[in-house]
Amino acid sequence: MLDTYAWANLGRTPRFPAVDVASEQRLHIMTRGLLLDWAATAAPTDNATAAAAANAGHALRAFDRRSTLSDPRARAYLLDAFRDFDDQDEDVDPHPHDCAGRCAGTGEVLTVLTWEHHGDDIYTAVHQEPILCYGAPTTHALDCATCEGHGFTYTPGYRELCLDGRIPASEPATSSVVPRDA
Ligand SMILES: [Zn+2]
Ligand SMILES: [Zn+2]
Repeated sequence: MLDTYAWANLGRTPRFPAVDVASEQRLHIMTRGLLLDWAATAAPTDNATAAAAANAGHALRAFDRRSTLSDPRARAYLLDAFRDFDDQDEDVDPHPHDCAGRCAGTGEVLTVLTWEHHGDDIYTAVHQEPILCYGAPTTHALDCATCEGHGFTYTPGYRELCLDGRIPASEPATSSVVPRDA
């Protein structure tokens, strides 16, 4: 349990390089309260732990500037807060819906990775899968060590998309066509 607690605190920290003290405090209250709540649930006769869990719930309510509840509902609030917190993590759209990388907000782009070679430079796509969206159109590094900048690698009968040298294309210079004075 202590491990879980330490992980929950330390594991999150690198994601917030600029530590938001208020949310760290809230996380601390919430995590500690959840552990107490779990401990209290596991030992129904341990009234001291139950009281401590309820107190953590009250503390979190107070931190969130919410009204005081009964002890059981204060404990339930810990779980609700945790679920919300968890959702926040998962629901973050990786990219905007009109993402320039054409992922439509999913963070992944369905891309053909393998073509079958029928001779005479005729290729048909045989395998596609979602690959990471860079949030921008991509191009291929000319100095890619894997494909020497071609963007493809070749195996007998097949052509494969090279993902090693995939880089975001530099911003296309927006042509500044300014209408002449009206
Ligand atoms: Zn995207
Ligand atoms: Zn390459």
